[in-house]
Amino acid sequence: MQVTDEIVRSVVSQVLAQMRNGKPPSNGRAGAASASGVFNDVDAAVSAAVASQRQFEARGLEDRRKAVACVRKICLEQAEQLGREELEETKIGRLAAKIEKLKVIADRIPGVEFLKTDAFSGENGISLQEYAPFGVIGVITPVTHSLPTLACNAINMLASGNALVVNPHPSGAKIACKGVQLFNRAIHAAIGLDNLITILSNPTLESAQAIFDHRDIRMLCVTGGPAVGRAALRSPKRAVVAGPGNPPVVVDETADIDNAARSIVLGGAYDNNLLCIGEKEVFAVAPVFDELMTAMTRYRAVRLDAAQVAALTKAAFVKGPDEKHPLVVNKDYIGQDAAVLAERIGLKVPADTELLFGETDESNPFVPEEQMMPFVPFVRVPDVDTAIALAKKYEHGFKHTSIIHSRNVETITRMGREMDTTLFIQNGPSTAGLGTGGEGYLSFSIATPTGEGVTTPLTFTRQRRSTTVKALRVL
Ligand code: NAD
Repeated sequence: MQVTDEIVRSVVSQVLAQMRNGKPPSNGRAGAASASGVFNDVDAAVSAAVASQRQFEARGLEDRRKAVACVRKICLEQAEQLGREELEETKIGRLAAKIEKLKVIADRIPGVEFLKTDAFSGENGISLQEYAPFGVIGVITPVTHSLPTLACNAINMLASGNALVVNPHPSGAKIACKGVQLFNRAIHAAIGLDNLITILSNPTLESAQAIFDHRDIRMLCVTGGPAVGRAALRSPKRAVVAGPGNPPVVVDETADIDNAARSIVLGGAYDNNLLCIGEKEVFAVAPVFDELMTAMTRYRAVRLDAAQVAALTKAAFVKGPDEKHPLVVNKDYIGQDAAVLAERIGLKVPADTELLFGETDESNPFVPEEQMMPFVPFVRVPDVDTAIALAKKYEHGFKHTSIIHSRNVETITRMGREMDTTLFIQNGPSTAGLGTGGEGYLSFSIATPTGEGVTTPLTFTRQRRSTTVKALRVL
């Protein structure tokens, strides 16, 4: 191999990064085994990722394919073990969903094949518009899907030639670090580069801010709630923000009621309603309201009466920080099983209960708050116009996800226009909007306030154009 200045610079940079991180230098070969991506210092993590990304960018598409394949293979083959560890650490959600969320990474997240080149050809010659890497991307991941979000972001970003520095949620950091080590070791074995994904083992709000501010971080991708979304949007860097949702469901009198009930249970119960796209509140018109409530019970959903709803509401919300937020979700209830929620209000339900639900009015905090637990409030409304108006009100302008069950195309069209959400699902569960039982690809980062939508490798690219004047048009 010819030793170029670039390789020497890269090796020196990797060794310095390892020394700053308190790790002994590796054997000095470019890309030799190191901390396998896990660091306790932001500068060291960024330097190592920068050094690797420079080499990665110089490689061909085949090496990107190999790196992406490593992430997919580990997620598929070790889904059971990694899913179990994620649940043990985060203590929220359900094992089957944790495992499935890793398995689907193998074939639903777009990779290198998603890249494209746009071409213009005419009497003045040709231009090629290509999608180039940004460089090193600062990534923030949520506790609700710690490793799946990281793996999904890694596939998208590596496919387009980038490297990542990750600040995971502190309550899901162990599994995220383990995933990063597994991915880096496999990538190193496949293409000889380490540290294409680096991660902070002791993430804090300060380390997140240090990543936001770091001059070698070229772009941010943040997946989480309102506070982190606002923090990223304050940064002068280009930020892809996958923010919070509170997806409403509208059911009108023309709906297939059985399908509506089955779909609400499927989407709203998935991983104990941790998904940002999951059904969070239902507005159903009076003529079909009771029929819908009955249909729900056919799909392992248990109806709470008014007193039980009141008891759960009292327990599941605590005093908020200010007048604007008088109540916030009690963290001890987030992502718990339906049977556990029931038990906490003195009710015994079958252990395999998917979802609890009950009638409320719109003032119940389960309607405006993103509860992230398997209780869904149902609000009875006189007509579909009221349902759409309330859906819009309680989606809070997040422009994230909304769902309708209706056979009336005019109503569907009106709601789609009114809501203006990134995902709009008709006559199916919310998960259909991400390619499970519906068409399209998957991502665990749906960029809402910044508008990129369901993220792909192209989300993490810069467009570059190469123009040849008066030549190469061979027609
Ligand atoms: P969270 O906002 O508590 O934490 C998300 C991440 O941001 C964590 O890594 C956390 O440490 C970090 N963080 C929080 N405040 C910060 C600040 N001020 N500065 C820097 N970093 C900060 O959210 P969570 O409980 O982990 O995840 C659930 C939330 O994420 C829900 O609101 C859900 O809708 C949203 N979410 C959105 C998507 C999407 O694709 N749009 C996907 C998953 C989750």
